Amino acid sequence: MSTTVSRESDAAVVTEHFDVLIVGAGISGLGSAYHLQTQLPGRSFVVLEVQGGYGGTWRTHRYPGIRSDSDLYTFGYRFKPWVDEPIASAQKIQRYLGEVIDENDLARHIRYHHHIESASWSSEDNLWTVLATRTDSGDSALFTANFLWMCQGYYRHAEGYTPDWPGMDRFAGPIVHPQTWPEELDYRGRRVLVIGSGATAATLVPAIADDCAHVTMLQRSPTYFISRPNVNEVADMLRELDIPEEWIHEIARRKALHDLQVLNQICVDEPEFARDALIDAVRAELPPDFDVETHFTPHYRPWRQRLALLPDGDLFQGISSGKASVVTDEIETFTERGVLLKSGRELEADIIVTATGFNLSVLGDISFSIDDRPLNLADTITYRGMMFTGVPNLVWIFGYFRASWTLRADLVGDFVCRLLAHMDDVKATRVTARLRARDADSPVLSWLDPEDFNPGYMMRSMHLMPHRLNLPEWQHSQDYWTERTTLPEADLDDGCLIFE
Ligand SMILES: Cc1cc2nc3c(=O)[nH]c(=O)nc-3n(C[C@H](O)[C@H](O)[C@H](O)COP(=O)(O)OP(=O)(O)OC[C@H]3O[C@@H](n4cnc5c(N)ncnc54)[C@H](O)[C@@H]3O)c2cc1C
Repeated sequence: MSTTVSRESDAAVVTEHFDVLIVGAGISGLGSAYHLQTQLPGRSFVVLEVQGGYGGTWRTHRYPGIRSDSDLYTFGYRFKPWVDEPIASAQKIQRYLGEVIDENDLARHIRYHHHIESASWSSEDNLWTVLATRTDSGDSALFTANFLWMCQGYYRHAEGYTPDWPGMDRFAGPIVHPQTWPEELDYRGRRVLVIGSGATAATLVPAIADDCAHVTMLQRSPTYFISRPNVNEVADMLRELDIPEEWIHEIARRKALHDLQVLNQICVDEPEFARDALIDAVRAELPPDFDVETHFTPHYRPWRQRLALLPDGDLFQGISSGKASVVTDEIETFTERGVLLKSGRELEADIIVTATGFNLSVLGDISFSIDDRPLNLADTITYRGMMFTGVPNLVWIFGYFRASWTLRADLVGDFVCRLLAHMDDVKATRVTARLRARDADSPVLSWLDPEDFNPGYMMRSMHLMPHRLNLPEWQHSQDYWTERTTLPEADLDDGCLIFE
């Protein structure tokens, strides 16, 4: 790291320089810091984070029951064994991330309370200049970096997505989004209406069911759920044999990946069979007279949206006990007492929770420019779902939808370290993705194929995302099982990346 002093307005601002600047101290940012430090020791780097601590998603979300919806043997890092139950609370994930920081002495590289406002690339200097505002003091902080490693996640942390329903201002009680759950909210003995049936609603409903007078999950259309005991029998058995945790992690991880691959394949090859099997499994967990056709029979193919996992079938237990119920209908308007549905039925509630998803945030809402020209990421084409045509020395981490996010964070971590080492080898200070002549005829497509995967938060904001070509080099693959071979073997000299 080196520092220079410059003047911004009238105040003297110290500019610090790092080889690599990592944005965000969530799972991706901490993993990237680990990979950089381990694989390329000696590089100077800093992690800038707007919040007052690490964890990203697992720090932001504080609603009751908040937990992962994929297993930690694959959602955990490749390099640090997970030693607990597979579906884990935010608190346990935070503890795990804290251990990663301590065991690798990463704390000295992380700066909290730094809200990055802008990032400008200069081709003359081959440098990024990053301007941050300190949320604790209001001061500006300036950084330069040779390489930007974007680990800012995919949604706006400050505020969740709530549709604009008519009459919302008429409702007498609180309307709460899970992403900004008020600590003081007292739902004990109250009637709670949760709008939505994604992973968040499915976590929240059973978590509060025992304490509420009643909780109703109101959904426009049903979601697929898989219920599993929250144990990993292979890991537990190996633990009884005193096998080292590193081995257990690797074996349990391979087993989880194998099972997930089989499930994926069945969903793709035999969607009707997969659909029937998923719905039959739900039926088996609910009372015999429960209307599964209306409430748990989705209208889409399995895995067009993320499959939500229910540890120990907790949602179904809540419904079976009568403490929770499901209504499938559409909202006509909010009323003073609750919501009036299109069917004419009124649902009364004391508290309404809008578990209606995220606002997509592309590159952390940072204002980017390349040589003084504003960057519109939607004008670019992605190189392997991590770099963008015409944007030098920048990689972002966007994980998998159908497998744990961290699997990709680890793979991209290896890729970036290989890329930086290659730049040294070829004495380049700049690497930019550029379409080859032979790529130019390929039709330009949207980031995601909506036939393949189409959750609301992505569909609402697809116009903000970069584009892709129907070629492996120029798209974000959702297939970990292919990428675990293709990314480590990707030829850096195949003409897609220009080294200067
Ligand atoms: C409730 C919930 C449950 C989930 N469960 C799973 C799961 O079980 N399995 C799975 O694979 N995925 C899950 N996901 C997706 C999840 O977001 C990712 O898996 C993972 O946590 C993302 O980590 P990340 O570090 O990439 O991003 P984030 O966790 O979003 O962290 C990004 C960090 O960057 C910071 N940041 C952003 N912009 C700026 C800026 N301009 N300046 C400074 N700092 C900035 C943010 O404050 C944040 O700390 C879940 C998501 C949610 C919301």
